[in-house]
Amino acid sequence: MNKRSGLGKSTLMNTLFKSKVSRKSVQATSQEKIPKTIDIKSVSHDIEEKGVRMKLTVIDTPGFGDQINNENCWQPIMKFINAQYEQYLQEEININRKKRIPDSRVHCCIYFIPPTGHCLRPLDVEFMRRLSKVVNIVPVIAKADTLTLEERDFFKQKIREELQANGIDVYPQKEFDDDAEDRMINDKIREMIPFAVVGSDQEYQVNGRRLLGRKTKWGTIEVENIAHCEFAYLRDLLIRTHMENIKDITSSIHYEVYRVRRLNENNTAVAHANGLPQHHMTSHEM
Ligand code: GDP
Repeated sequence: MNKRSGLGKSTLMNTLFKSKVSRKSVQATSQEKIPKTIDIKSVSHDIEEKGVRMKLTVIDTPGFGDQINNENCWQPIMKFINAQYEQYLQEEININRKKRIPDSRVHCCIYFIPPTGHCLRPLDVEFMRRLSKVVNIVPVIAKADTLTLEERDFFKQKIREELQANGIDVYPQKEFDDDAEDRMINDKIREMIPFAVVGSDQEYQVNGRRLLGRKTKWGTIEVENIAHCEFAYLRDLLIRTHMENIKDITSSIHYEVYRVRRLNENNTAVAHANGLPQHHMTSHEM
C-alpha cells in the first residue's frame, strides 16, 4: 500500500474491510516485527469470503512522497519488500524448515495516484517503474469523486498511456496470462486500470438500505455501486477473483527472481572465499 498523506488510503482500507465480501472482518491485530526506522506499519485483519477465513495484512507507508525531495522515496518500500523475501528465503533454506513457512511477503501494492486529472508525476513513474519489478502493483486514482466523469476517463486513459510509454507492467501482467480465457478476463481489467475509487467508512440509509457512502450536498456517493465508482472492481480483484493469482505471481515470479539472485550472490561469495575466479561459477548459475 502506498500513498501520499491525505489521499484517502486509510479510508479505502476501512472500506475494503467493511464492504460486503468482508463484513465479518474481525478486529485488527498489530504486528510487532516491522523495523521502526522505515516507518512502515502493518495491520492484520481476519476476513471471511464464501466461508473461507483468511488473514489479510495491510502495510501502510505514512508520509510517502511528503518530503521536499522525493527522489528516493521508493527506497524504504523496496527495502521492506526485499526484507520480507529475505525472511522467507532464510526459513526456506533452513535445514529444519517448517512445514508451513510464515509468509509475510508483500503480495500486492496498491498505488494511490492523486486525482490531478493531468498526468503521472515523475515520482509516480519512478516508484511504479522500480517497484513493479519486485511486487504486483495495482494503481488506483484516489478520491475519484473529485473528478468529473470526463476528467476521470481522460485521466485513466492518460495514465495507461504513460504506464506503457515507461514500460511499467502493472498487475495483471500480460506475460503471465495462463491461457486464452485468462487473457480475455485480464484484458478487460487492463482496459479499466487504474480503478477510479472512492472510499468511505460511513454508512448511510439510501432507499431503505444501509450503504457505505459519502454524503454530499447533491446526494450520496455509494462507494460499492459500480455506477458511482470503481471500488467494487478493486475489491473483487483483490479479494474475490484474483487473490490466489496475486499470491501465485508473487511466489513464482517476484520471489523467484529474488531467490535466484540471492543464491547466486552466495555462490559467488563462496567462490571468492575459495579463491575461484568468477567465471567458474557460471555453470552453477540458475
Ligand atoms: P490517508 O492519509 O491517505 O490515509 O487519508 P485518509 O483516509 O485519512 O483521508 C484523508 C481525508 O480525505 C479524510 O478527510 C477523508 O474523509 C477524505 N477522503 C477519504 N477518501 C475520500 C474519497 O474517496 N473522496 C473524498 N472526496 N474524500 C476522501
